Amino acid sequence: MNTIKKDIRALTKEQLRDFFESQGDKAFRGNQVYEWLWQKGAHTFEAMTNISKETRQMLEANFVINHIRVDTMQRSNDGTIKNAVRLHDGLIVESVLIPTASRTTACVSSQVGCSLDCRFCATARLKRMRNLNPDEIYDQVVAIDSESKLYHNRPLSNIVFMGMGEPLMNYNNVLKAIDKITSPEGLGMSPKRIVVSTSGVPKMIKKMADDNVRFKLAVSLHSAIDEVRTSIMPFNETFPLADLREALEYWYAKTKNTITYEYVVWEGINDQRKDVDALVQFCKFAPSKVNLIEYNPIDDGEFQQAKSEAIDMYQKVLEANNITVTIRRSRGKDIDAACGQLANKS
Ligand code: SAH
Repeated sequence: MNTIKKDIRALTKEQLRDFFESQGDKAFRGNQVYEWLWQKGAHTFEAMTNISKETRQMLEANFVINHIRVDTMQRSNDGTIKNAVRLHDGLIVESVLIPTASRTTACVSSQVGCSLDCRFCATARLKRMRNLNPDEIYDQVVAIDSESKLYHNRPLSNIVFMGMGEPLMNYNNVLKAIDKITSPEGLGMSPKRIVVSTSGVPKMIKKMADDNVRFKLAVSLHSAIDEVRTSIMPFNETFPLADLREALEYWYAKTKNTITYEYVVWEGINDQRKDVDALVQFCKFAPSKVNLIEYNPIDDGEFQQAKSEAIDMYQKVLEANNITVTIRRSRGKDIDAACGQLANKS
């Protein structure tokens, strides 16, 4: 008979210590195994060389180590790397390493597919299959950290939750993954180097503020006019801008952390002066900056990047209102690794 073995990485350190004690062993053994699982990233019990053979066999009989596997790795001619990551149940998500002169950033997924319906995003066309577990998120970061060391001779410096899925719809697991990423028992990274990007779920933004999280917040705004935003991000009907605004004011009041608005300017959608004026007004509610993202085409031309004059107008008007603007060029377009292009095509 096949009994289903438990995933050992679902246990906390305390639970592992208790398990060893219940086996008549020392609780300290739990710490050793925990270190193997998280800091040293062991994929097998066999690899845990300072643990006795009998103990390893006992672990093998009781547990499995569910680890992600990088199925395929594509390298762009700009140095960007895209991983197709296979999960223990066969589903696939994608994660990306983006190198620049000063940093290497991991763009990680939080869900398999996405339940939101942004009309310009390739991931939105995939059904949401399930949430990722904390370790599946953590493993993506570890895999990219190794690739960064291997191909760029430096460890990972930043993490953005801008891969597949809506992180705030898998909030608990994202938080647990970040705890591990920032913990000295995990990767020991500073939370200031982590950005969680959301399409804007007001209730969860408030929850994050209440939880006093230390990472940064980015909101995919794309329009500060309800009618326009609903036409490109239909869930805006359920979470209208007034609710988003209230949640962001709450966020700033509690955390004193500035917000980044991600914003794509599309021809004929949000490229007029009234669109910029609405954005300027929205930026006044809480200290914020605007990141103008280049559009990465995913379809047969329904959405088109606005003309450069429109982008220039955005930049000028925002700057005239003392709002910091950055313009983000796409990376990894040739391998479908850029924002909004992640859809398991490879
Ligand atoms: N669900 C989260 C994170 C994933 S999307 C969110 O919405 O923020 C990461 C970023 O890519 C978001 O700002 C999103 O609006 C943007 N994006 C989606 N499709 C895009 C595309 N085709 N071109 C450029 N940016 C896109």
